[in-house]
Amino acid sequence: MKQQLLYQAVSRHNILPLVSSCRVGCVFCSNRYNPPGTRAFSFGPLSGDQVALLLDMLDGSRPIVIGESASLLCEGEPLLHPGLTEILHTIRNRFPSTLVKLTTSGIGLTDKHLDAFSRLAPLEVMVSLNSATSAGRQKLMADHDIPATLAQIGQLAQRGIPWQASAVLMPHLTGWHDVERTISFVQANGAFAMRLLLPGFSRLAPQRLLPPGDLPAQARQRLASWRRQFALPLTLEPSLCRDLTAEVAGVLRNSPAQGLLMPGDILQDIQGQASWSRVAAFDRLKKLASPRIRLLRAQEEMELVLPKQAGTAPGVVMDYDLAPADYRRALAMAKGVENVLMLTSLWAAPLWRLVAPAGWQVEEVPSHYFGGTIAAAGLLTVADYRRVLESCRARPEKVLLPPLSFDHQGLDLAGQHPGQLSETMNAEIVWE
Ligand code: SF4
Repeated sequence: MKQQLLYQAVSRHNILPLVSSCRVGCVFCSNRYNPPGTRAFSFGPLSGDQVALLLDMLDGSRPIVIGESASLLCEGEPLLHPGLTEILHTIRNRFPSTLVKLTTSGIGLTDKHLDAFSRLAPLEVMVSLNSATSAGRQKLMADHDIPATLAQIGQLAQRGIPWQASAVLMPHLTGWHDVERTISFVQANGAFAMRLLLPGFSRLAPQRLLPPGDLPAQARQRLASWRRQFALPLTLEPSLCRDLTAEVAGVLRNSPAQGLLMPGDILQDIQGQASWSRVAAFDRLKKLASPRIRLLRAQEEMELVLPKQAGTAPGVVMDYDLAPADYRRALAMAKGVENVLMLTSLWAAPLWRLVAPAGWQVEEVPSHYFGGTIAAAGLLTVADYRRVLESCRARPEKVLLPPLSFDHQGLDLAGQHPGQLSETMNAEIVWE
């Protein structure tokens, strides 16, 4: 099973898994608090032979990701793999121009790592920083060597290594001032962007760790003011968008958009085509060469051309709302039927209601299996969908489920198959 999951991580997501272990114990680590029976697999540092097999499966036309989890595998700290720098050299020899994205806590980042990263461009580092203060890092991560960790992270930009940071928002433990000091640290140390993540705790997490119910609203409110305060592009995940307005969230330094676009700009149309969503606008900006943009800035309409080559990053940061590819996929899943019930996550349902064709009903699905503050579609299970179907009065011909909830065998995180749901509702159940 583990071998299959390793192959799946590479072939589906272009993620190279290396090791599950980790030196620290973050209070919000997703590897903790799984309900019994949840399918999650740990693995020791992969051997040279295992890594060689996986390297053969990587796709050099897409970014290669290290240190992220996108399957049932528990991904840990890649710096703990003894062969990391050699593996990175092998990737670079094989794929000279493919972007490598490496996620790390930064704990244990040595000069040897920094030397290798700086010589292996294009390579980006995502630091799961969470806090840049001693008190915050002790509370959240139990980091035992805080000055050394922060000093090494501060070296990234100085050595020309592009980096961004992420922070799980835990202001009920650290205070909002800690978050602000962390954003200041990230900006002062030359990161190109920062992701702010709402914590997801299952029902098994200790009560003292659970954030207040209004944390999402508070975070959204503070984000608006931080975007005025900091030049660093900041995003919130999930974005909590309630509309599909293509508003610019941030602009990257030294990018085509710098000096032309500004946070808060509304991209009305791009090369004569109205923006369908933020994701659609970003994709179109990326695809086109020097696109002509009509935008709204502080109620004033203006037009400009963004000088860039086709297929290159435009340098804007947009919140994630709905991807046109997911919309097209949903239409394909519903093909031939008008009376459709779509089940989706609490975060995504309001956006799907804006675009669902007439005849579709969109219902949000709370997580009971994981419970707590978990809401992502990828963590919903057949049992969660069953609860909604049992209380739903709709009589659809098809029920659409988010493909993200199921693995390549069509199983959820508890090992259940969505086909079982046709016993609950007399409709075709579609999940892929
Ligand atoms: S650094 Fe990542 S893997 Fe390690 S404990 Fe923290 S969240 Fe978990």
